[in-house]
Amino acid sequence: YDYDLLVIGSANADLVVGVERRPGPGETVLGSELDVHPGGKGANQAVAAARLGARTALLARVGDDAYGRLLLDAQQAAGVDTAGVLVGGAPTGVALITVDPSGDNSIVVSPGANGRLTPGDVRAAGGLLRASRVVSAQLEIPLETVVEAVRGLAPGTRFVLNPSPPRPLPPEVLRACDPLIVNEHEARVILGVEPVGEEPADRARALLARGPRSVVVTLGARGAWVASAQGAFPVPAVPVDAVDTTGAGDAFTAALAWRLGRGDALADAAAYAVRVGAAAVTRAGAQASYPTPEEVAAL
Ligand code: ATP
Repeated sequence: YDYDLLVIGSANADLVVGVERRPGPGETVLGSELDVHPGGKGANQAVAAARLGARTALLARVGDDAYGRLLLDAQQAAGVDTAGVLVGGAPTGVALITVDPSGDNSIVVSPGANGRLTPGDVRAAGGLLRASRVVSAQLEIPLETVVEAVRGLAPGTRFVLNPSPPRPLPPEVLRACDPLIVNEHEARVILGVEPVGEEPADRARALLARGPRSVVVTLGARGAWVASAQGAFPVPAVPVDAVDTTGAGDAFTAALAWRLGRGDALADAAAYAVRVGAAAVTRAGAQASYPTPEEVAAL
């Protein structure tokens, strides 16, 4: 394999403004100076994996504009192979983020070019899929594009999905996931309304019954639960002083996917991923917070 990990997903410019309070309908408020950061779940995962030392490629679409260049620069600086990043067709995706003094975010996402990453783009990147040990996807791109990725997997390639933002998944996609990685909110949406018990272990087992080969439920500062044919068990978090949890889930997913591709058992890969997630919350930002292997070891 040429790549340890191929990430198929979104790339967004995050435009962040601090406000004293959110404007009501028809109202204008003055905010702080604008911060612009590279983001989007796909771009975040690729940077997190590359920083850990994984040979990483990104399949995504950005606009032929300044935000697209910002995102490509950030990928290349982290060591991601961006030959699979398509340029043009729509403006780069943007997340408009207001943060109030309590730290609560309000976010509007304009998917832009992410919405134009098509099944045809995935078919055209078949060589990239076949050259990758693990393929990781999220749902900030069209679901039919993720379906096409599942269909294009080589027999030995492992598929990892974080269904965020969540929506019900076709059985074909669920069956390919090894693992399906969800937080508690995503777990609820994937499972639908039926009651499955309150415990994370119950959720993990209920999700496993929907067809994935394995499931990971992330629980923020409480760590994660893992479920597979071998059983369900908790993975404790690493206690840290959390500064900013933005993008922790993307760092966790990238670390898990990479370690699984190296042949780690799910329990060992998850134990490593909680360390990476913990390291990521000790610094501000998403991509800016992702650790090197030395920083993970020092935790
Ligand atoms: P986000 O959407 O913010 O990226 P998420 O909801 O997808 O995150 P979380 O469950 O919040 O995912 O975090 C992923 C992992 O990161 C957790 O399973 C845990 O290992 C680690 N983590 C997150 N927050 C903390 C914390 N406060 N302390 C220690 N570890 C944390």
